[in-house]
Amino acid sequence: LRGTAEPTIPFAQPGSLTKVYAIASGKGGVGKSSVTANLAVAMAADGLRVGVVDADIYGFSIPRMLGVTQPPTKLDDMLLPPVAHDVKVISIGMFVPPGQPVVWRGPMLHRALQQFLADVFWADLDVLLLDLPPGTGDIAISVAQLLPTSEVLVVTTPQDAAAEVAERAGSVALQTRQHVVGVVENMSWLEQPDGSRLEIFGAGGGARVAENLSRATGSAVPLLGQIPLDVALRQDGDDGTPVVLAHPDSPAALALRDVARAL
Ligand code: ADP
Repeated sequence: LRGTAEPTIPFAQPGSLTKVYAIASGKGGVGKSSVTANLAVAMAADGLRVGVVDADIYGFSIPRMLGVTQPPTKLDDMLLPPVAHDVKVISIGMFVPPGQPVVWRGPMLHRALQQFLADVFWADLDVLLLDLPPGTGDIAISVAQLLPTSEVLVVTTPQDAAAEVAERAGSVALQTRQHVVGVVENMSWLEQPDGSRLEIFGAGGGARVAENLSRATGSAVPLLGQIPLDVALRQDGDDGTPVVLAHPDSPAALALRDVARAL
């Protein structure tokens, strides 16, 4: 048993070489988890050592999207994370029986996140991605506290209503003194058989969020990519092999790979 001292989080130690990105969104359902899963496997395919923490404790979906079926294994008092598509993954979904909800108050969320970071044997990672819950709640604050050097990547759709809340989620970084590394616009358009683009959720949300966060933070926040709507992206996520691996030549995969390489 550990004493009362705070557990050591390797990624928070001075000199840690791991880049840590927290993937945030304002609303749920904009594709934050899909983007996280795809960036992770794209980076791993590029030869980076990648870990994913599913910090969306109530709404976990990462195990399914990455096709993780096995639970972590125990090694002394550490947990060995399962590996999917060369990515190490941890999620509360690996600990609750199927179909069971996670019904916790805030302090439990903090504790779970702490354990994911400190009690999992990540070994050396080049990149750690955290799939945050939507919004500006407890977990976003805990991440900033536990991983002060983590950078925030904001996911939004082009829609005004989504962009507005995404901007608020990004603005949390101002208070927590985190760097906002960029914005990804998802569900940007649906390509028609004739090649034209149907802008189902409108246009311009990603650019607007990037511009407004640049102004708010006083440093350039780029729009790193626009990901089209794509049946393959949805289907491949449901099947557990992200679109960048399952359909690498699809427009969505190409756009996601560009974002991964821009980070
Ligand atoms: P969030 O993490 O923001 O709640 P998800 O990544 O779970 O969002 O995505 C919500 C749903 O939309 C999922 O069913 C996912 O497969 C689907 N989806 C996300 N992005 C796209 C896209 N570009 N094209 C088609 N379906 C998408």
